[in-house]
Amino acid sequence: MTQLHIALAGNPNSGKTSTFNVLTGTNQFVGNWPGVTVERKQGYYKKNQEYTIHDLPGIYSMSPYSPEEVVARDYLMSGEPDVIINVVDGSNIERNLYLTTQLIETGIPTVLAINMMDLLEKSDKQINLEKLSYALGVPVVGISALKNRGLDELMQKTQAAASSCDEIQFPVYDSRFEAAISEIETVLGSTALEKYSRWYSIKLFERDEKAQAQLDLSKIQQKEITEIIKITEKIMNDDAETIVINERYDFISNLKNLCIVDEGQFKASLSDKIDQVVTNRFLALPIFALIMWLVYYISIQTIGTMGTDWLNDTLFGSIVPDFVSQTLHAWQVAPWMQHLILDGIIAGVGAVIGFLPQLMALFLCLALLEDCGYMARIAFVMDRIFRKFGLSGKSFIPMLIATGCGVPGVMASRTIENEKDRRMTVMLTTFMPCSAKLPIIALVAGAFFPHSSWVAPSAYFVGMSAIVLSGIALKKTHLFSGDPAPFIMELPVYHLPRFGNTLRYTYDHSKSFIKKAGTIIFVSCILIWFISNYNFRLQAVSEDQSVLAFLGGLIAPLFAPLGWGNWQGAVAAITGLVAKENVIGTFGILFKHAAVAENGHQVWAALRATYTPVGAYSFLVFNLLCAPCFAAMGAIHREMGSVKWTLRAIGYQCGLAYIVSLVIYQFGHVAFEGGTVNLGTVAAGVALVGMLYFILRKPVEQAPTVTIEQLKEEGEGWQL
Ligand code: GDP
Repeated sequence: MTQLHIALAGNPNSGKTSTFNVLTGTNQFVGNWPGVTVERKQGYYKKNQEYTIHDLPGIYSMSPYSPEEVVARDYLMSGEPDVIINVVDGSNIERNLYLTTQLIETGIPTVLAINMMDLLEKSDKQINLEKLSYALGVPVVGISALKNRGLDELMQKTQAAASSCDEIQFPVYDSRFEAAISEIETVLGSTALEKYSRWYSIKLFERDEKAQAQLDLSKIQQKEITEIIKITEKIMNDDAETIVINERYDFISNLKNLCIVDEGQFKASLSDKIDQVVTNRFLALPIFALIMWLVYYISIQTIGTMGTDWLNDTLFGSIVPDFVSQTLHAWQVAPWMQHLILDGIIAGVGAVIGFLPQLMALFLCLALLEDCGYMARIAFVMDRIFRKFGLSGKSFIPMLIATGCGVPGVMASRTIENEKDRRMTVMLTTFMPCSAKLPIIALVAGAFFPHSSWVAPSAYFVGMSAIVLSGIALKKTHLFSGDPAPFIMELPVYHLPRFGNTLRYTYDHSKSFIKKAGTIIFVSCILIWFISNYNFRLQAVSEDQSVLAFLGGLIAPLFAPLGWGNWQGAVAAITGLVAKENVIGTFGILFKHAAVAENGHQVWAALRATYTPVGAYSFLVFNLLCAPCFAAMGAIHREMGSVKWTLRAIGYQCGLAYIVSLVIYQFGHVAFEGGTVNLGTVAAGVALVGMLYFILRKPVEQAPTVTIEQLKEEGEGWQL
């Protein structure tokens, strides 16, 4: 037996992880959201330990844009893999074959595993595997990873393919394109290894920067290749990248005609039937709004609240402080230390941890939606809406990820090739309420609006509206104008959520919340306690005399027009920049000893005595929309790659947060709280008109693109 390195490649949701698990026997998380398999996993084939299986990230193509694509491509071109198993979702085969053509072009022996045969058998679609194998020139095996069927045959064929000396048969495209590729191959000569020659030629034709960098071409080679590309573009009347995409789709379309029989095109399957309603042009949005309203209402204002009440009132309200207080007393710990532990750490960290039940309930709901396949539909539905305004649905995926945490959300924007769209997505993604903002939502909803069902869900819709409306306004500026990038999205078949997956998702997210409370929030609370109890001469003083009160007092007037211009509110918003949970931690510390106490909810009562409901809602909206925490700002900086763009993004977020909060408070205060119209209300009116203008005005003129005529002029005198 020989050592074999087998690369498992395929689209997200094709069943790669499931196949990997069956083949290796290792137990791993199986997700349903495109992009779950981000890192590379390895394992040994359970029936032969000499076969190492490498699970590559799920990808749709091998362009060099997203981290997943780069990881997959770098590994495939590293020379290590002996053979590729391309896992293909049989129920979505046309889409999946796009990647297949590229995998075959790597020159590495490839075996096609058509997965989900169990589903296919139940549907009216039939794939003729023999014909497909013949037309593609690679072995094809039907499998079902879920039912553990066909995998032995797959491994036999894989081993045979790895040891076969047959020449690779590449997909054949239009003769003009083929001519260009073989010209480039000639120009390349021995610059690329022979087996990779076609791969690199096609990539160079696409003007793939990564391939150009890897090959270290001479000036003459570069010039010749540029000429070949330009002349082919002229002949085929399209740009190079589009030519390649079209050629691949034409090839797949021919394959489809040859090998796929779809008897029941008009008979909708159950998933299709659900989709007819869920993704319906008119119903999709109301259904989505209803579902998200339910999710937030249930997790933050009903079921989750029960647990939170117990944690806040009983555990962190009496049990823990009483026990710790007695222990510290018995140990005769120095009074200032007791004060720090009880009123700093327990009050601050406890206030944050207290929201864990609501957070877990939210994550459980989101996990259920994701695992049953609904989340994928939302991206699809949003694409249709975004597109009307020149935005791409691709921007929506980072935003969905950001409901967990803004940092991976911002990072996920890498999958967007168009630079303007990517920048805009990076700028807007953190408007989504991430898990750290959840305690703020829960606090404001619980303390100020206990009998209303709309406050918590509204936070989600405020974030979403900020994204959509900002997107519309920004797209009309020079900085972001342009057509939306095409968005290909697979809609996995609906299925019942699996218990293990949802629990795992909830557990992972809750764990990182607790970890943060024990680290960043812990340290922040100590610091906040310290500067809220001492003055500049390090003397213990009352809170009003403290360093924090002084610093907060300096900036507080800035927030007065927003309805929360006291130093505590200002300080909470600023500490929130370290981590959004700090907003709650800070309130926990600052309002712990407030005079008013009511049913154990000291902090709530103290807050109610300090702010009006509209002021509190304005505070919530400000914290939702303003600059995210430092970690997310760091991610924004990494993705933007420039200080100027980072500052633009943060400036936009803070500016928008200020204006929206101003409008909410000024109008809300007058409408619901008997406030009088004053200068602030007028400023809010002007701000509102300004925002509407930017949303409704005409887009800027598009920069002219190069015309075919210009290209023809440039291309004069060149011949293939
Ligand atoms: P990956 O994203 O490519 O790693 O895909 P997963 O392994 O996570 O699978 C995506 C979804 O398809 C999961 O819900 C799996 O349970 C499901 N799945 C995978 N293989 C099969 C199969 O053979 N039949 C059916 N019916 N479902 C499958």
